[in-house]
Amino acid sequence: MNLILLGPPGAGKGTQARRLQDNHGLIQLSTGDMLRAAVAEGTEIGKQAKAVMDRGDLVSDDILIGMISERIDQDDCKNGFILDGFPRTTAQAEALDGMLRDKGLHLAKVVELAVDEEALVDRITGRYTCANCGQGYHDSFQKPSVDGVCDNCGATEFKRRADDNEEAVRTRMQAYRAQTAPILPYYRDKGILSEVDGMADIDEVTKQIEAVIS
Ligand code: ADP
Ligand code: ADP
Ligand code: ZN
Repeated sequence: MNLILLGPPGAGKGTQARRLQDNHGLIQLSTGDMLRAAVAEGTEIGKQAKAVMDRGDLVSDDILIGMISERIDQDDCKNGFILDGFPRTTAQAEALDGMLRDKGLHLAKVVELAVDEEALVDRITGRYTCANCGQGYHDSFQKPSVDGVCDNCGATEFKRRADDNEEAVRTRMQAYRAQTAPILPYYRDKGILSEVDGMADIDEVTKQIEAVIS
């Protein structure tokens, strides 16, 4: 089963994709994570992407389309994947369609996480992840059960993203409104779009997504 999670920055895509990965054996394909890995490794793509990402603008369609196409070809994606952060523009959505067609693959559902914009800045400025396993946390909404210790792996190092500051968040929200929200009708017309309430608590959002994909 191949899925897309769509929603603005901070909507909960990463949080929910990770749960779907654990519960259904699907592979989470986060283009943000892939780009951050490229930046950390200092690859050619990473060098081109870094400043753009720090500002909160979108990286070029060509880079993203090439990256996702290569990734989908890898063996671990055979049982299905969850796209988290892709597509983000109409050009990406159309390229994805062509790509899936060429590879003989099919999109089961596009799940939209609907959220109030005012909540997003708080979600994003409070966000951090385990430096070892990548488990996501939040200063107020999703704390580890023991302070400073990852629930998932026991590590005690955490990190915050360079672009999780208010200024970059505003730019990212603007990019979502202008470039990503317009692809929702594209999937609605195909009859595969389902909306879930991204303002509900994390477990409830998971339940709603499970209902959509079952
Ligand atoms: P995205 O991948 O869409 O940018 P994340 O999954 O990283 O969003 O979530 C952003 C932050 O908000 C994280 O710190 C996460 O713990 C928290 N969060 C995610 N979903 C919810 C929710 N339903 N209610 C409250 N906080 C949430
Ligand atoms: P969020 O979790 O807040 O939605 P991501 O981790 O998905 O953010 O993305 C971080 C940054 O990486 C984006 O602001 C953008 O610069 C870049 N990026 C990620 N995915 C894409 C994409 N599909 N197209 C263009 N840029 C992207
Ligand atoms: Zn961990």
